[in-house]
Amino acid sequence: MKANVWHGKNDMRIEQVPDPRILNPRDAIVKITSTAICGSDLHLYDGYVPSMEAGDILGHEFMGEVVETGPAVRHLKVGDRVVVPFTIACGQCFSCEHHHHSLCENSNPNAWMAEKMWGYSPAGVYGYSHLTGGYAGGQAEYARVPYADSGPIRIDDGIDDDKVLFLSDVLPTGYMAAENCNIQPGDVVAVWGCGPVGQFAIQSAYLLGAERVIAIDRFPERLQMASEWSRAEVLNYEQVDIAKALREMTGGHGPDACIDAVGMEAHGTGFMAAYDRIKQMMRLESDRPQVLREVLRACRNGGTVSVPGVYGGFVDKLPIGSLMNRSLTIRTGQTHVQHYLQPLLERIRKGDFDPERLITHRLRLDDAPSAYKMFRDKEEACIKVVLKPWVH
Ligand SMILES: [Zn+2]
Ligand SMILES: [Zn+2]
Repeated sequence: MKANVWHGKNDMRIEQVPDPRILNPRDAIVKITSTAICGSDLHLYDGYVPSMEAGDILGHEFMGEVVETGPAVRHLKVGDRVVVPFTIACGQCFSCEHHHHSLCENSNPNAWMAEKMWGYSPAGVYGYSHLTGGYAGGQAEYARVPYADSGPIRIDDGIDDDKVLFLSDVLPTGYMAAENCNIQPGDVVAVWGCGPVGQFAIQSAYLLGAERVIAIDRFPERLQMASEWSRAEVLNYEQVDIAKALREMTGGHGPDACIDAVGMEAHGTGFMAAYDRIKQMMRLESDRPQVLREVLRACRNGGTVSVPGVYGGFVDKLPIGSLMNRSLTIRTGQTHVQHYLQPLLERIRKGDFDPERLITHRLRLDDAPSAYKMFRDKEEACIKVVLKPWVH
């Protein structure tokens, strides 16, 4: 089959690779009809995620049709249309039983690597380094889906791929980010980063009762989307002092909750942003926590900081004093996608979310390498790319 394969920093190639096979009784093989490029895939493109190997198949946001099932798969059959969660989860361990699917204790065969880096291992993830299992990803014509009867959600009617594809990651990720804010009526929520996760976090914050949402970015097209699509108040951090603006907009208190939907490759202005860039380049710091610092300082006393943005390792100059002395709560985690699939599918059907609107580019699988570059460099006002492996 054809797949988008990682070869190194800025080097992705479309290649012919062996078709995936059933390896375990609970596996299924899915023929991929739609697959997306995620903001977190850019960390792989930019070479900041450790334990990638040349030849790894990329992609963790995909859906398609079941073409083969292992003998132990009970709830899916050949011909079913499914959206596949990016987190791989067995459905039976302690974490899965507590709906913490992204912490599944059985799905990361390289748990020992993750334990060295992080203490304990989270779940396996498709197409996202050997630290999280080394699974082949979904930017391909087919994928092997482990624990097929506990993860993927069946889409029984003719609802279009583009309306449900983002259940695989960015919609539940934005939703969980807002849910983690413990929003009370009247709350003001500030969201750093207006990419796809940020846009869904903004919409989810309103749905969960926020009175005002303030959205922060530097790209006009993303800020425009946040204000027009979701009625957020917007701030461009290249034009205003964010800390000062947030203080003024909230009567001197700061937002009740702050969401970091940016993660490890934050851009920024000023000395600290330059410091991170240099340290990350020299491999003295794995992540650039500019936004994390900002949210920890901007949030009101006793407020909540929610971090859906991806971080990998170790950072410098984290304002721990601000966190401790001001009684802040931090909530974070890879998304427990399985837990959100059904309720969010219902919300899509009800019209609470219109995920299709996010898609700025629909391309062929062959276009993946150039699409990564376009997305990374924010060319052509690119917000979200969907690839169609079987459309030529
Ligand atoms: Zn993603
Ligand atoms: Zn599990």
